[in-house]
Amino acid sequence: MDKKITIAIDGFSSTGKSTLAKQLAAALGYVYVDTGAMYRAVTYFALQNGYIDAAFFDKETLIRSLPFINLQFQFNPDLGFGEMYLNGTNVEQEIRSLRVSNFVSKIAEISEVRAKLVEQQKEMGKDKAIVMDGRDIGTVVFPDAELKIFMTASAQTRAQRRFDELQQKGDAVSYKEVLQNVEERDYIDTHRDDSPLVKAENAIEIDNSHLSREEQFDKVLALVNRIQ
Ligand code: C5P
Repeated sequence: MDKKITIAIDGFSSTGKSTLAKQLAAALGYVYVDTGAMYRAVTYFALQNGYIDAAFFDKETLIRSLPFINLQFQFNPDLGFGEMYLNGTNVEQEIRSLRVSNFVSKIAEISEVRAKLVEQQKEMGKDKAIVMDGRDIGTVVFPDAELKIFMTASAQTRAQRRFDELQQKGDAVSYKEVLQNVEERDYIDTHRDDSPLVKAENAIEIDNSHLSREEQFDKVLALVNRIQ
């Protein structure tokens, strides 16, 4: 039988990490975990409770509320992956909005938030056979992962992808605001003190600006097969 491994996928916003991770998990029969969904759910919680808005951020109250934030992925067999539940409610739709995207990197800077989520992520990966995507998976969550991928693409390519996705969902946003959000998150994610987005030393970098989903998948699957 093939050896079970841990696959860590990191990279900038909207580089198609989750598309690749889902393809790999389906092909290998592995669990897929979208750690961005966890940071997004905490952000949604903070917005719903009025702890953050454009002019205000009550960090201390959010930190004190962390024990009351329960995050669970529940597997949806129709989709083939787990959906995010915040305190028992499915928040998949809510957490993908531009409103949540606009605040999530500020929430993800807080060390107490990161500590809580990283602990849960490590637990989910203790038996391997997992594909996890995020910003710090190969550096902090699974530094010993057998395969680490670091994904990049130009900010314009990424903004266009995210814009198309949001439009398809009926979210009335402009390309300009999406590009602005992508660039702002790139900046905050790479400059924060705790677990900034960096390529792990032994990660394989894939720039997919000019790669199709299939080409990218084939490339990474070949890497997996070489390890197993
Ligand atoms: O992957 P996604 O774009 O949904 O992530 C949303 C945000 O959550 C990122 O821009 C980043 O600020 C934060 N994040 C993080 N660490 C992770 C995953 C996401 O800081 N492992």
